[in-house]
Amino acid sequence: MCKVCGFNIIGHHPANCPFCGASQDNFITAEECSQVYKVMKTKVNNKVYCLNSEPSLGLEHNAYKIETPQGIIWIDCPSTFDKSLERSKINVFTHHHFIAAANLYKSHFSNELWIHKYDSNNSIANKYDFDKLFETDFNLDGIHAFHIDGHTEGFTCYVYEDVLFVCDYIFIREETIKFNPYGPYQRTLDGAKSLNERLKSYDIFKVCGYDYFMEFEAWYEKFTTLID
Ligand SMILES: [Zn+2]
Ligand SMILES: [Zn+2]
Repeated sequence: MCKVCGFNIIGHHPANCPFCGASQDNFITAEECSQVYKVMKTKVNNKVYCLNSEPSLGLEHNAYKIETPQGIIWIDCPSTFDKSLERSKINVFTHHHFIAAANLYKSHFSNELWIHKYDSNNSIANKYDFDKLFETDFNLDGIHAFHIDGHTEGFTCYVYEDVLFVCDYIFIREETIKFNPYGPYQRTLDGAKSLNERLKSYDIFKVCGYDYFMEFEAWYEKFTTLID
């Protein structure tokens, strides 16, 4: 695992991190990682929790746990493998950047990994053993998935009840907001417009992103300035 970005490197030992380019002296094994880091759970609401490594791990992203009446679903996966976490039955992904330790959790939990087909076959994703490569929008235990493309070809947003999950589609700081620059701008803009259309049929209260979760109202006010 790369300590700079939290990327999990599977099956080979390259000179540089395939994700952030850091040199191999920044790599630690999965065992070392599990000894040093734990996964911390922060409450978003009564059914949704944010998962990330403690102490914080480089540029690591948030993953989210949803407790549906039918069982636990994860959206994206923590970089740290922590055996003490409660089993998720299915781990769905927004896109291929944050699959992280999903392979280790899969061998531990025997859960399923679901990702959009377009994000499944690239140098980052193709080491993982996916159970489902979805190609259309779907509804899983009340979690609505919709494919918007943009930042990555297979980028998929999720809504569960009044919570929206957008991962790193949008970078947000105190007063500034911008699209994730690591993707084609026009397609990212088109995807944001299609997300905006989809949001009209929901009454969203919270937004969960890759390094924040916040009130929807404040987020949406900024978001609309990107698509106007
Ligand atoms: Zn890295
Ligand atoms: Zn990304």
